[in-house]
Amino acid sequence: KLLSGDKADDEEASLEKSLRPQTLAQYIGQARVKHELGVYIEAARKREESLDHVLLYGPPGLGKTTLAMVIANEMQVNIRTTSGPAIEKPGDLVALLNELEPGDILFIDEIHRLPKIVEEMLYSAMEDFFVDIVVGQGPTAHPVHFPLPPFTLIGATTRAGMLSAPLRDRFGIVEHMAYYEVADLEDIVKRTADIFQTSIKPSGAHEIARRSRGTPRIANRLFKRIRDFAEVADQDAIDEAIVARSLTYLRVDDAGLDETDNKLLRTMLEYYDGGPVGLATIAANIGEETDTIAEVVEPYLLQIGFLKRTQRGRVVTIKGYQHLGVPYPQNK
Ligand code: ADP
Repeated sequence: KLLSGDKADDEEASLEKSLRPQTLAQYIGQARVKHELGVYIEAARKREESLDHVLLYGPPGLGKTTLAMVIANEMQVNIRTTSGPAIEKPGDLVALLNELEPGDILFIDEIHRLPKIVEEMLYSAMEDFFVDIVVGQGPTAHPVHFPLPPFTLIGATTRAGMLSAPLRDRFGIVEHMAYYEVADLEDIVKRTADIFQTSIKPSGAHEIARRSRGTPRIANRLFKRIRDFAEVADQDAIDEAIVARSLTYLRVDDAGLDETDNKLLRTMLEYYDGGPVGLATIAANIGEETDTIAEVVEPYLLQIGFLKRTQRGRVVTIKGYQHLGVPYPQNK
């Protein structure tokens, strides 16, 4: 039993891997980002140079890690992936950089969470391909100049505003990842269904896409759960009806909002007359981290126009009131 469980896990993991597109052409949506990167990659390859450092920013689940891997594949170089919090001290960074071959890519997710002392070491590494490290301790301590092969740093962050200016300025290529169009998410869902060998009707793919908060990771996750519901219901193709039924179970509403989204909006209406109210206050009220609200919850509510930012805080819009079925106050 254990063995078969492991095997199922392995299968799941390899399916997961196969969900990641390998080339720019397979990468769905983000047309502007793809076009720009396509030009820079082709130019770098023609000149036989390493690609300039790339900063990708945008909400989680939009395909930043995937895109970094696609870039490595298109440049035909190796990629090492790590994350800001995982690089605790300068020595960790040196160890990573030391393993790179010329032209290789170092991908640092959550780069805004790098310790300051590591970040400062990155400056010379990015700009002039060297690091200065101190070897030994006490009276025998001495600086060592450590040259590096030319490499490409790809940094990903959910908040470009959290990066210090000196770090941000060292990225020659800065790309903003936007929420996906419904049509693009439909293509992503259809592709995922194909990989999972599950049949899905266009109406089913459309309904999942429409309710995925503009985010491929959510679309894929919902798809997998809905596939389970369809399987248990002995339904051979996923259609709009089974999507709608499953999403009721999963507590995803008609606009694709989840419980946290709705809790935030409802709390703002019930306790703050729809705002203005500060992020930290909202976070405390609904028992979520301020970062989660700022990086995950709020951006989508702003994007679909349920929430608005003002000087004095966040405000629920008419659309937001309509969504909750509450009349918009006359005196607003
Ligand atoms: P991020 O690094 O921005 O949090 P990921 O790169 O981990 O996001 O992507 C999340 C999931 O969505 C992955 O499973 C990936 O396969 C899928 N995905 C992301 N972008 C695309 C895309 N453009 N086309 C197809 N699948 C995508």
